[in-house]
Amino acid sequence: MVDTAAIIGGGIGGLATAIALRRSGWRVTVYERDAEIPATGTALGMWPAALRALDTLGVGDDVRKLGRRQSVGEFRRPDGTRIATIDTARLERRSGDPVYLLSRPALLTVLHRAMGETALRFGTPQVRQLTRLREEFDLVVAADGVFSQARTELLGERYRARYSGGTAWRGYVENMPTDSFVETWGAGAKFGVTPQEGGRTNWYAAAAAPEGSFTPGSELATLRRRFGSWAAPVRAVLDAISESEVLRHDVYVTPWLPTFTRDNVALIGDAAHAMTPDLGRGGCEALIDAVTLAACLRDAPAVRDGLRAYDRQRRRPTQRLARISNVAARMNRMRRALWIRDGLLRASMLTGPPD
Ligand SMILES: Cc1cc2nc3c(=O)[nH]c(=O)nc-3n(C[C@H](O)[C@H](O)[C@H](O)COP(=O)(O)OP(=O)(O)OC[C@H]3O[C@@H](n4cnc5c(N)ncnc54)[C@H](O)[C@@H]3O)c2cc1C
Repeated sequence: MVDTAAIIGGGIGGLATAIALRRSGWRVTVYERDAEIPATGTALGMWPAALRALDTLGVGDDVRKLGRRQSVGEFRRPDGTRIATIDTARLERRSGDPVYLLSRPALLTVLHRAMGETALRFGTPQVRQLTRLREEFDLVVAADGVFSQARTELLGERYRARYSGGTAWRGYVENMPTDSFVETWGAGAKFGVTPQEGGRTNWYAAAAAPEGSFTPGSELATLRRRFGSWAAPVRAVLDAISESEVLRHDVYVTPWLPTFTRDNVALIGDAAHAMTPDLGRGGCEALIDAVTLAACLRDAPAVRDGLRAYDRQRRRPTQRLARISNVAARMNRMRRALWIRDGLLRASMLTGPPD
């Protein structure tokens, strides 16, 4: 008899899990709340370990071909002076790959194409359906993101997403190609500029802010007030964008979970371990969760044994990354003694970035 799985959420983690399970012979149904894959979106960094997971799914080379290689990386001060260089060559020597940047829609489209016959039901929000799905399917995978309702149903209200204390702005600029990752750190805020596929430049900004302190219709003015005096490439980006191109959202994290699984349910991706975006690793970890989960299930005598092995392999490393990410966020939000902060940043680069 064929094993069946329901996946709640058709984001990076959900689609990757669908491919991985299908390759192991599962019959999979993905329920996605949205009506379709988003058409536009900003870039995500795919680190070497995520590329290896994508290789396992059979789409690593598609991502390498579509994405932009990050060949130069630097942290700078607002006046343009260098704080630290990212040794991208060392990362590539150590791991066999550099970081590739590509937009979320491009990644989702690659994953979607690789799903084959798997049923992906768009426009089907699964709200309070966990009990029914658990009875109907051999396995339920909750890949419904940081605000996971499945997580709340499974583990309770105390594990609802928490505000990280920081907010983010994001966007991209057409016809402005770059090979460089440049992140500029000022007092309590940062502005990043990275390559993106299709000749675009991806940008993001982050700052400490009270929850929900949006300024609809004048986010660009807020950005220009805050970052307008910063050196290139920040100013060039702020000159090239318009208000309608600015995305703004507060950053939420998943609290520490005591387990990623219960009975025949597994939490993966942001539902299990949403972290601040300071390491650029959340999407990568969702991909690694997906291939690990499928491998654990393949090697186990029963679903519950496979899920226990998945929890053992993934909970500690992802919670450790979330902790490091949180430290990076706090460092970035420092407003005083910036020379200490810059020294710490430089020291953390000496070992090279984690792959
Ligand atoms: C500013 C910023 C920058 C980032 N940069 C990077 C980066 O460079 N590299 C990186 O690896 N990561 C990055 N991340 C993190 C990354 O975006 C997330 O970790 C990743 O999207 C998690 O994937 P996921 O599939 O777990 O969740 P999501 O992408 O949130 O997908 C969840 C899906 O579930 C659906 N859904 C939700 N509820 C329901 C429901 N009830 N029923 C059905 N469907 C539902 C949603 O519509 C969505 O499609 C960044 C995040 C932010 C905020």
